[in-house]
Amino acid sequence: MAKIMDGKAFAAKCKNQIREEAARLTEMGHQPGLAVVLVGENPASQVYVRNKDKDCRECGIYSAMYTLPEETSEEQLLELLDVLNHDDKINGILVQLPVPKHIDSQKVIEAIAPIKDVDAFHPTNVGYLTTGMPRFAPCTPAGIVKLMEEYGVDPAGKHCVVIGRSNIVGKPMALLLLQKNGTVTICHSKTPDLKEQCLRADILISAVGKTGFVTGDMVKEGAVVIDVAMNRNSEGKLCGDVVYEEVEPKASLITPVPGGVGPMTRVMLLENTLTACRLQNHMEDPAC
Ligand code: NAP
Repeated sequence: MAKIMDGKAFAAKCKNQIREEAARLTEMGHQPGLAVVLVGENPASQVYVRNKDKDCRECGIYSAMYTLPEETSEEQLLELLDVLNHDDKINGILVQLPVPKHIDSQKVIEAIAPIKDVDAFHPTNVGYLTTGMPRFAPCTPAGIVKLMEEYGVDPAGKHCVVIGRSNIVGKPMALLLLQKNGTVTICHSKTPDLKEQCLRADILISAVGKTGFVTGDMVKEGAVVIDVAMNRNSEGKLCGDVVYEEVEPKASLITPVPGGVGPMTRVMLLENTLTACRLQNHMEDPAC
């Protein structure tokens, strides 16, 4: 039987530390601030943005929410980002993706000042991550690494298999595991022998977005299994890629959905905002 990697409980613990650090920075006259921009009325995005606002408020981080109508032009959005780039109260800027189709998301990503890019999607921050000296790492993979550390999972010398190669999850996940001295295989929709690849994994990370994708026969006995996906099953219930009841008896550690990776993603956004605040005020990370 696998031990459950309880992201919800660990995230609550992390938030206490974040609250203390935000209070310390505020006392020094540098209250950390996050701006979140939402364009349009995507219901899932509205929930994510509300949660980000709530998290900031709970931790003493200044939160500025910009909810713009669907018909906002690319130019108007870029103008707002320019204002936020120059606003001293704002240390971190996040544009909730996806943006409406008439807006070029890459242009938006590149319009955020890299030092305020708490999502770490700007090519400058991708470059820092790729060369092994990240100042921010994308929230989901960074949260997974933090959760692994909490549960004593060290990728060094392990075979890590990441299913998915998106810029948001799969690729940065693979880079972070590599940095931690894992031997990394990235699988995707054109991988012909997916099951064989997965069966070699000491650490298996699934970020596909398909319910029931990872079955028990794809998992090696004793593997650590991280389920990144947030899917809805036929009853509308939140679930991951992993067939939990098949995989859990074989795994040594496993993340549940919900309550695994999701809460860690939220925590890392707050941590990146603190990092941005320290960087912009030329302060050391107290953990270093
Ligand atoms: P994405 O951009 O759609 O990427 C999905 C990846 O899965 C792609 O690389 C795709 O391969 C691969 N894939 C699809 N079908 C496959 C197959 N049959 N065999 C092997 N690989 C296959 O999604 P994403 O943004 O990375 O997100 C992935 C999942 O994580 C989603 O469920 C999303 O909701 C969830 N998510 C969760 C969090 C969190 O905080 N928990 C955060 C972000 C995302 P190709 O590249 O070849 O198409």
